[in-house]
Amino acid sequence: MSYHPADPESIFTYGAPRLKFGNGASEEIGYDLSLTGARRVLVVTDPGIAATGTPQRVADQMARFGIEALVYDQVHVEPTDASFQHAIDHALAAGPFDASVAVGGGPSIDTAKAINLLTTNPGELMDYVNVPVGQGRAPSKPLHPLVAVPTTTGTGAESTTICVLDVLEQQVKTGISHAALRPTMAVVDPRLTLTQPAGVTASAGMDILCHALESWSARPYTTYERKTPEERVPYCGANPVSDMWSSRAMQLLATSFRRAVHHGDDEQARTDMALASTFAGMGFSNAGVHIPHANAYPIAGRVKDFHPEGYPREEPMVPHGMSVSLTAPEAFRFTFDTNPQRHVEAARMLDPQAEMTDDPADLLPTVLARLMRDIGIPDWLAAVGYDESDVDHLVGGTMKQQRLLAAAPKDVTEDDVAAIFRGSFANW
Ligand SMILES: [Zn+2]
Repeated sequence: MSYHPADPESIFTYGAPRLKFGNGASEEIGYDLSLTGARRVLVVTDPGIAATGTPQRVADQMARFGIEALVYDQVHVEPTDASFQHAIDHALAAGPFDASVAVGGGPSIDTAKAINLLTTNPGELMDYVNVPVGQGRAPSKPLHPLVAVPTTTGTGAESTTICVLDVLEQQVKTGISHAALRPTMAVVDPRLTLTQPAGVTASAGMDILCHALESWSARPYTTYERKTPEERVPYCGANPVSDMWSSRAMQLLATSFRRAVHHGDDEQARTDMALASTFAGMGFSNAGVHIPHANAYPIAGRVKDFHPEGYPREEPMVPHGMSVSLTAPEAFRFTFDTNPQRHVEAARMLDPQAEMTDDPADLLPTVLARLMRDIGIPDWLAAVGYDESDVDHLVGGTMKQQRLLAAAPKDVTEDDVAAIFRGSFANW
């Protein structure tokens, strides 16, 4: 892959949902949907979020505006083609609906995107799943309004144009990706995150941080070959607008991340984290993410016996943000030479007090490791159950994520990924 194209790209694009942000914002969704002319609305959530009562409260406020709202609370915490199909079948049977509201984390929002696509467009789920797993078909008809209400900070799913799923028969994690999938409106209500346990805040916060840092350090849009209009994709590489959101997200994390973890009832810290999550989402949903997110797939997928604090105990898991963060310090040591100044600037935004290291390439990994230790992220890959004998399998899993690796600021070989994993077993 050449990073010095013969005919460099000169155009970048920027897309985002409409946004309503602040304490109480989720109480105004009925009004917002009434403006779209919606009469029947499906509220999509998972059983855990449903138990908090928030989705039902969102549904109940619709009646005042003459809108009938039904709650679907069977979203799977790790969505699969089967769980998407279950949700789609339910929506088709109980429908028609003319809008939907997703209340929850990435899985609820992603499931609502799939419902929206398959209840407005012809064909089967696999027709739209990314190639080579599915047919990669683009929707031919307009989708309905979709309001996304993230209740866990971090995922950025309210801003993205993709929904992620496991295709069970092929044992592969893939997605459906199209600009039309982006929610039409994001409603971010920081109060909904006040009860989030410290372990969840730490992991979700590292996801926010990596979204910001990976899009800040992603391959710049000008290093791609020029595209034709029909070739343009939502993720176009680092650009001046995504840089603005990513850098601001990092500055908010610098002042509020540790406080939000250690003092969960600090409303200002929670609000800053919700803002950081929103800003990072607006950045990476246009620039893209790369190596740490590619590594997160096999780290989360091959978990053996790790049970993180703050999460349900039944099944072993490495939460998404934790799995993204564990190789981030080494990944950013690897990418340092692509743009030393950007890496130092990022470290300075995340920790303005950090003293310069002897080797400037160590600064960002040092700042990240110190933060991870302070907020209780486990001591890297060894602590979540991996050792040297897992490296080949982990590397194999990462190399399957070519869509993500293509957004890295330089070529990433198998040996490079192996070295990043080997450097990430333990650090303190
Ligand atoms: Zn993420």
